[in-house]
Amino acid sequence: MTEARPVLIIGAGLAGLRCALSLQEQGIPYLLLDKASGPGGRIRTDSVDGFRLDRGFQVLLTGYPEVRSVMDMASLDLHPFRAGALIRRNGTFHRLSDPFRHPADTLRTLAAGMGTFKDKLRILSLRRAARSSGVSEQGHRPAGRSIREALEDRGFSRDMIEGFFRPFLGGITLNAELQSDEAFFTFVMRMFSDGHAALPAGGMQALPDQLAGRLDASRLMWNAEVVRVEGNHSVILSDGRRLEGAHVVLATDMYAASEFGAAGGQRTWNGTTCLYFAADEAPISEPVLVLNGEPDDPTDAGWRINSVVVPSLVAPGYAPEGIHLINISCVGVAPGSDTDLEALALTQMRSWFGPSVDTWQHLRTYHIPRALPSQHAGSLNRESIPLQVSPDGPVVCGDHVTTSSINGALASGRAAATYLIEHLALRAPAS
Ligand SMILES: Cc1cc2nc3c(=O)[nH]c(=O)nc-3n(C[C@H](O)[C@H](O)[C@H](O)COP(=O)(O)OP(=O)(O)OC[C@H]3O[C@@H](n4cnc5c(N)ncnc54)[C@H](O)[C@@H]3O)c2cc1C
Repeated sequence: MTEARPVLIIGAGLAGLRCALSLQEQGIPYLLLDKASGPGGRIRTDSVDGFRLDRGFQVLLTGYPEVRSVMDMASLDLHPFRAGALIRRNGTFHRLSDPFRHPADTLRTLAAGMGTFKDKLRILSLRRAARSSGVSEQGHRPAGRSIREALEDRGFSRDMIEGFFRPFLGGITLNAELQSDEAFFTFVMRMFSDGHAALPAGGMQALPDQLAGRLDASRLMWNAEVVRVEGNHSVILSDGRRLEGAHVVLATDMYAASEFGAAGGQRTWNGTTCLYFAADEAPISEPVLVLNGEPDDPTDAGWRINSVVVPSLVAPGYAPEGIHLINISCVGVAPGSDTDLEALALTQMRSWFGPSVDTWQHLRTYHIPRALPSQHAGSLNRESIPLQVSPDGPVVCGDHVTTSSINGALASGRAAATYLIEHLALRAPAS
């Protein structure tokens, strides 16, 4: 007996992997295709001389409901960041701690010479509000307000918005103007209060690798670039082959989806540049996020160095024993040559951490212009299930139809499988 035609899933990022796993659990045949040589899409980790270099600074928020529901958290071997941040502002570092996680730091936080006393009380009330909000990012109506407007309406001072929220939330959304939708901000705040920001011991790629490892290897096709999607049943590969399936799921990034005429159109890309250095000594002594709260330098229009972390202080496996890995991340893609950028970054780091920076050794620079679909206020569609469906076309999923996050990608992949099963009545073949 020949096997029923498989669902053709294009794209083995988190959305495509999640969709495949849901279908597999129901016994529905699928074929997962990706033009890359392995799974992960925008979550890849390169191994370079014993260092683990995530392609762009990413963290896993352990509160993400979609992650909790599908991942074996224990085997990810997660290592948390210390809650809160060190903020560079007015030429010095200020500590902003989460008083519920680190009560001993509360006084220091309240005294930190950044923002007003009322700002710190407002953060506590923000945290309370986030905790009482729904856990689902699909549970809210689009707020229609930007993060900046929401913060201003709550009465936060300019110092607090520019010094803390801009690098903190601007780093998460890769939009320094804080124009992203307030609903995503509320969701992220809830995630920070429900869990930790963490790194897997093996690098961020442990996430897609874990999902791919649970799939039937004979249903995974690498180096398979789809060049055309015909209706909702067939695809053409770059080598000319035509594949026929029970249905097509387009689980690509937004760029490819728009090439296939299937992206929503409202969202643009937010980019980043990320530099890695090796050093014998870490510039800080704890696994904490260091944020650049200094005002803009007028020369860095369109991009700025936003944060510094030492991943090897968070998860030791990120660097060989006795050496540290340092990650400098920018909001926006830095222009100019890598050599100029490296020199510029080191000059800034020297002014923060002193002459020990002169011993840092550059490992690699990643420019990622297509990192996150923008999430401008009102652009997020949380009214419907998180995917796109047209009567004659493929089912479309991925972070560009939900929120630009690990949680959003997983949610839409799961929703795509649910749609095929519940609305299109795809079933496991009778045995
Ligand atoms: C630098 C950076 C930092 C981030 N930081 C965070 C963070 O801290 N926390 C967080 O929650 N999220 C973060 N994200 C977002 C998160 O990584 C993404 O939202 C998520 O990985 C997107 O998954 P996806 O499956 O929707 O898309 P993708 O991962 O882009 O997967 C799409 C797949 O489709 C494949 N494909 C495309 N075209 C074709 C074709 N024609 N034929 C075959 N295959 C094709 C691609 O090769 C790719 O594998 C970050 C992303 C980046 C890039």
